[in-house]
Amino acid sequence: MTTPPPLALPETEAAEAWIKDRTSQTLTHVRELAERLRTAPPATALEVLEAWDELSLELGSLGGLAGLLANVHPVEAVRTACEDTEVEVDRLRTELTQDRALYNVFAELPAEQTDALDPLAKRLLEKTLQDFTRAGVDRDDATRARLTEINERLTELNLEFSRVSRDDVRITTATPEQLDGMPADWLEAHPVSDKGLVEITTDYPDALPVRMFAKDPSVRHAVTVAGLERGWPHNDEVLKEMFALRHELADLVGYEDWPAFDAAVKMIGDGPAIPEFIDKIAGASEGRMKRDLEVLLDRYNRDTGPISGGRASAVSSADALYYEELVRQEKYDVDSQVVRTFFDFAKVHQGLLDVTGRLFGLHYEPVSDAVTWHEDVSVFDVYRASEVEPVETTERLGRIYLDLHPREGKYKHAAQFDLATGVKGRQLPEGVLVCNFSRGLMEHDHVVTLFHEFGHLIHHVLGGQGEWARFSGVATEWDFVEAPSQMLEEWAWDADVLRTFATDAAGEPIPADLVARMRAADDFGKGYHARQQMFYAAISYWFHKEQPDDLTKRLQELQAAYSPYPYIEGTHFFANFGHLGGYSSAYYTYMWSLVIAKDLFSAFDRDNLFDPEVAGRYRDLVLARGGEKDAADLVADFLGRPYSFEAYAAWLVS
Ligand SMILES: [Zn+2]
Repeated sequence: MTTPPPLALPETEAAEAWIKDRTSQTLTHVRELAERLRTAPPATALEVLEAWDELSLELGSLGGLAGLLANVHPVEAVRTACEDTEVEVDRLRTELTQDRALYNVFAELPAEQTDALDPLAKRLLEKTLQDFTRAGVDRDDATRARLTEINERLTELNLEFSRVSRDDVRITTATPEQLDGMPADWLEAHPVSDKGLVEITTDYPDALPVRMFAKDPSVRHAVTVAGLERGWPHNDEVLKEMFALRHELADLVGYEDWPAFDAAVKMIGDGPAIPEFIDKIAGASEGRMKRDLEVLLDRYNRDTGPISGGRASAVSSADALYYEELVRQEKYDVDSQVVRTFFDFAKVHQGLLDVTGRLFGLHYEPVSDAVTWHEDVSVFDVYRASEVEPVETTERLGRIYLDLHPREGKYKHAAQFDLATGVKGRQLPEGVLVCNFSRGLMEHDHVVTLFHEFGHLIHHVLGGQGEWARFSGVATEWDFVEAPSQMLEEWAWDADVLRTFATDAAGEPIPADLVARMRAADDFGKGYHARQQMFYAAISYWFHKEQPDDLTKRLQELQAAYSPYPYIEGTHFFANFGHLGGYSSAYYTYMWSLVIAKDLFSAFDRDNLFDPEVAGRYRDLVLARGGEKDAADLVADFLGRPYSFEAYAAWLVS
């Protein structure tokens, strides 16, 4: 079967001209498509929708491509050009959704035509009209002009916020003696300078192991504070302006505030439901948090009590990972340094492909001749696995790129980026995993992250086989999109799954009893972890709801109300809390989708995680449907009942 060809990316030297050409050509073409739709719309409602979807596909794909390269391309000029493209794409998107003449083409479609549309096309029309009215198309000229201004400024602020968070890498130094406790491979990768010092950047692979393993509390403190300080003070003003403009935008299109505007197109539905949800989770996790914190505190006091001359009443976030680590070793007999000997990057990489291929019935074919933006990137074509057909004759479903190691100028976190939006017969779905893992041994946490992000990638590919760009891939409600990824994490915690790829240097698979202890150790702290997440969610919600003058002061109050850890004097975590950009007031979504993820996972048999019947139904009824139905309906289709809080609540106390 013929499918559309994958995108041909440019060689490094040609990339800047390439993205600029592609940008101007695409934007010109999109403007032409819009002009045709506005002045000479097709005769039928279906054709009108098709024309609009074509336009959306082109614009969305350019935005995806630019968004990716702005975060991964090694050449700074290319990253900058891509940021410019993102601004242009957002500007045109806003302009189009505020275009009254275009809106009228949809709003004035005759009822006898729209009634005759199939359910999916009807849904598309409904969503399209909603996109228009949320953009303020039905407001007066002055309001629409102001909305344009706001949107342009918000795009700039978003970019500035993430650029500052990304590029503001802080460096602390330590003497070799202060690094007692660090793993050998970390020490090897961090040589001592002429001055007798070791540099530690705030990048994850540098900083996280220090916070987990360094015995010297002053080093842990310095590294933690450096991480909390990224983006400060620059982003304080950026954020305040962002919150004020978001509020104004929501107000202009008829919502009470930004959270209400934002929640209206999510599963949660309404702004006030967010703090209710936050408090529901905070309440459900209270007992568990206290119990686990007490254990952490006891262990902490055993070390420090004699020094400080008294019993501390709380553990600092600068010490939490280190003591969590000790409790895990001593109480659960889980030594992360032993655990990581089973997670060699190359084997994990292959294991991920084997596990997800088996689970979803897929085959990944390495592509050796694809041009990428960096030599670290590996490329695979995704096919439906078939025992009878050779790969060449089966249908190619998409292409994936894995860019998994850190380098200068690259995005600092772990995320999936869309490279191309999939639409059947028109465009092959292509997606990219951008992560920052070490090249040698990995922390198990990072293995879990890899599975998580791959969940987004496979959702993008499997959901990219439909007929409408608007519903392609991860185009579901935003508070649902994390659920499939969070559920896939379970496979990185299963002993039978792990023993297929987690083997040490001698080839011995990770022992089942070690995995059992790792799970018990991981369960330790899930109450306070939930509370820390609710602290973040509360920042995200209340900062937008209230737009406080003094962000640091409000942060302190929310930290006292929700976080298990006391505020560290003089720090400003929000200045690098990247999700305030993309997730805005909706950081609760991580926990919301975890509730859904636990519910989805309850349908799988824990003794047979690869059961093809369950996995196949999940693939076809949830992932492959993209945004074709409301998420609540997708979940109900798979579970055979509406979603519920029960599986999550049971997990929290278990
Ligand atoms: Zn995610």
